Amino acid sequence: RRAAFAALKTEPSVTKDGAHIALMVNAGLRDDVAALDITGAEGIGLFRTEFQFLVSATLPQRERQQRLYRDVLEAAGDRPVIFRTVDIGGDKALPYMRHDGEHEENPAMGWRALRVALDRNGLMKAQARALIEAGAGRTLHIMFPMVSEPWEFDEAKALFEKQRDWVASRGRMLPSAIRYGAMLEVPALAESLDILLPRIDFLSIGTNDLTQFLFAADRAHPKLAERYDWLSPAILRFLRRVVAPTKAAGVPIAVCGEMGGRTLEAMALIGLGIERLSITPAAIGPVKAMLRSLDRGALQTALSAWLDTPPPSMRAALSGWAEQHGV
Ligand code: PEP
Ligand code: MG
Repeated sequence: RRAAFAALKTEPSVTKDGAHIALMVNAGLRDDVAALDITGAEGIGLFRTEFQFLVSATLPQRERQQRLYRDVLEAAGDRPVIFRTVDIGGDKALPYMRHDGEHEENPAMGWRALRVALDRNGLMKAQARALIEAGAGRTLHIMFPMVSEPWEFDEAKALFEKQRDWVASRGRMLPSAIRYGAMLEVPALAESLDILLPRIDFLSIGTNDLTQFLFAADRAHPKLAERYDWLSPAILRFLRRVVAPTKAAGVPIAVCGEMGGRTLEAMALIGLGIERLSITPAAIGPVKAMLRSLDRGALQTALSAWLDTPPPSMRAALSGWAEQHGV
C-alpha cells in the first residue's frame, strides 16, 4: 500500500468528477519541509512557528527566527508556506517567558496565541520583522491563531503592516505581497464571519481546537478523546454554515486540523465543499487515493440530505456510502 501511495505522488489531486483538491502539509521544524518532496504536497498549509520557541532553551531572537523562516521558504521554492504566528501560552507555556505568575485553571481557553501576542506585542513585532525580511521578494502568507473577534485580526494585521513600513524605511527589500489569514478555531468567530470575511485573504479551520470548544471537551483528555465524533452532525453542520458564506465571499478556505488527515473525515470535508486540506505528511497518500476515486458531486448530494436529516450514525452512513461507491 505504501508503494501505491508513493506512486500517486506525481498524479494530480483531482476527484473523479474533476474537482482539484489542494493537499498541503502541516509542519513546524526546518526538517519538516522535506515532506513536500516526499509526498508531492502543494505547499505548507500550516507552519507552526511556536515549535522553534518550544524547543529552545531561551527566547529565539529575531535573527534566529528569520534564519528558520528563510530556510523554510528556500526549501519550499515556489510552493506556498503559510506561517502561523506563535501559538504559545496556555498549555504551551515557555519556561523562559514571564506569565505574571498567574495560574490558569483552563489553559486551552486561557491567555494564549493571539491574546498573548497582542498584549505583549514586542514578541509579535520581532516575529513580524523576521517573517517580512525572510519573505523578501516573494508572496508571504501570514495566519493568526485563536482569532475570536474580528478586531483581533485587524490589530494583528496592523502590527505587521507597521513592521513592513519600518523594513521599507530602512531600504530593505519587501515581500512582493503579504496575504493575511485567520484561523477559525474559536466558535464565536463563526458568528462574525460577515464582518471578518471582507478583511481577510484566506481562512483556515483548525478543527482540533474548534471541536474542543464546540463540545467543551479537552482535546488532550484521554477519557474524552474518542467520545465525540468528528463526523457528528453538530460539527459537519457547523462547518457547512462556515463554508457557504466564505465561498460566496470568494475567500479561500482550508482545513488544517487533524480531522482532514483521516480518510473518511477528509471525504466528508470535500463533500462540504472544502477544496484545500493541510494535513500530516503521512496522510497525503491515503487522502489523495481516496479523493481520486471520489465522485464529489454524488457525495455532496448524499451528504447534504444527511445533514438536513441525520441518520443514526453519520460515520456509518458515510463509510457505507464510500464502500458502495468504490471510494
Ligand atoms: C487546530 O487547532 O486545529 C490547529 C490546527 O492548531 P493546533 O493544533 O496547533 O492548535
Ligand atoms: Mg489550534
